[in-house]
Parts: sequence; C-alpha cells; structure tokens
Amino acid sequence: MTYTYDDQNIFARILRGEIPNKTVLETAHTLVFHDINPLAPVHVLVIPKGRYVCFDHFCAEASDAEIVDFHRVAAKVCAMTGVAPDRGDGFRAITNAGANGVQEVPHYHLHILGGRPMGRMVAKV
Ligand code: AMP
Repeated sequence: MTYTYDDQNIFARILRGEIPNKTVLETAHTLVFHDINPLAPVHVLVIPKGRYVCFDHFCAEASDAEIVDFHRVAAKVCAMTGVAPDRGDGFRAITNAGANGVQEVPHYHLHILGGRPMGRMVAKV
C-alpha cells in the first residue's frame, strides 16, 4: 500500500507520551482513551499502537497479533463501559477514512459511541 504515516499526528504524540490522554485500557498493541470532544455519554477511541493511517491500512498490513488484540480490546471496552448490547443498550462503532470519510486524525482509530440512541447511521443527502 502507498500510505505515508505522519509521525506528528496527535495520536502518535499521545502514544509517545507527549500529550496526556484519559486511558481506559492499554495492552501491548492497543490503547483505548476517552475522546476529548465526546459526542455521546460514552465516546472512546480504540487505536493500534502501530503506525497505521486508516482502517484498510490496518486490515491489510497489521500483524495477526495486532488485529486480534485490537478487536479483543474493543470488545472488552464495550463491556467495561456498559454499552455492549447483551447487558446494555448498544453502541455505534465508526471509523472514518480519508477525505470523504472526513478523517481528522491520520492514525487509525475506532470510535465507540453509546449511552444514548445514536440515530440513523448516515444522513441522506
Ligand atoms: P476522526 O474525525 O474520525 O479522525 O476523529 C478524530 C477524533 O479525535 C475526534 O472525535 C476528536 O475529538 C478526537 N481527538 C482529537 N484530539 C484528541 C485528543 N488529544 N485526545 C482525545 N481525543 C482527541
């Protein structure tokens, strides 16, 4: 793939400890922290520690261990924050990629939003 990773992006700086974050969970491969501008009562970001720009980059080039860990951690966080549909009221998982996806931070991240009804997935234009 031809992605170029920007080591100065804000999540890279968080991973290097240059910027503080409100950590929810951390493993060898994955970090979860609260979004600084929450759009729902629960709004956390799951990010890999590796240098991946966006979802498809991560899916194509991350190791099996990174991919498995990322998703196991995501599941754990859904349970920890009480939004998993088996015990809570559900959530929306979103990842934005590139210009049309309106991705602001070029380090792959999965938003997990819950604690209120999230409305329809995408507005019809
Ligand atoms: P996206 O548009 O999908 O790239 O989303 C980027 C998200 O990162 C937004 O929801 C921001 O509120 C969030 N964000 C930006 N800077 C920080 C930060 N320093 N700590 C936590 N979340 C952040």
